[in-house]
Order: sequence, then C-alpha cells, then structure tokens
Amino acid sequence: MSHPASHAADAAPPPFDCARCRRNVKGEKPDDATWCAACRQALIARSARMAWIPAVVVAALYLWLIAWSGLLESPMMAFWLVLGAVLAFVAFKVGRRVFFDVLRGRATGDRG
Ligand SMILES: [Zn+2]
Repeated sequence: MSHPASHAADAAPPPFDCARCRRNVKGEKPDDATWCAACRQALIARSARMAWIPAVVVAALYLWLIAWSGLLESPMMAFWLVLGAVLAFVAFKVGRRVFFDVLRGRATGDRG
C-alpha cells in the first residue's frame, strides 16, 4: 500500500508563529526556539560580527605575548604564528556560539 498523503505533509511543514518577529510563517521549519529562517540568519550574521571582538583581542594578546617573549625571532616563528591563528579562530567560533545564545536569550526573554 502507498500513502501519498505523507509525502504532501513532508513537503509542507505546518505554519508557526516566529518567537522573535511574531510573524506567521508558512512553508518552512522553525528552529529549536521557534524562530523563522530570516530571524535566524540575522542572528547568525550578528553573532558572527560580534565574534570578531574576542578573536581580535586573543590575536592581539597573543602577538604581544610572543613579541614580548622573543618567540618571534625563534626558528619556530612560523609555528607560533600558526598557533596564534588557530587560537584566534577558536576564540571566533566560541564567541559566535556564546553571542548566538546570549542574543537569542535576550530577544526571546523567556528562556532559562
Ligand atoms: Zn522571525
């Protein structure tokens, strides 16, 4: 037996009210906080912009540290620079995640 009705249900998820813009959204799936795709994209872009702050701070502190300690003149200078880039990248990723949660918590207001 075939069930063509279930295919139609897959193609069109039920409408929902976005928790941020309060818009009734049809034809897309809410995320785990019931945000529409547009609000989610805006939040991701915003947290990515803010994540540059910790990344730049970490990179500046690290550069200052290796310049101050004389590691920049060492034969392993390239290694230390790559390590610094990795640290800044990790700070960016962590910062983006933290800002994402913080901004979303502030916007919805009712999450623990
Ligand atoms: Zn929305």
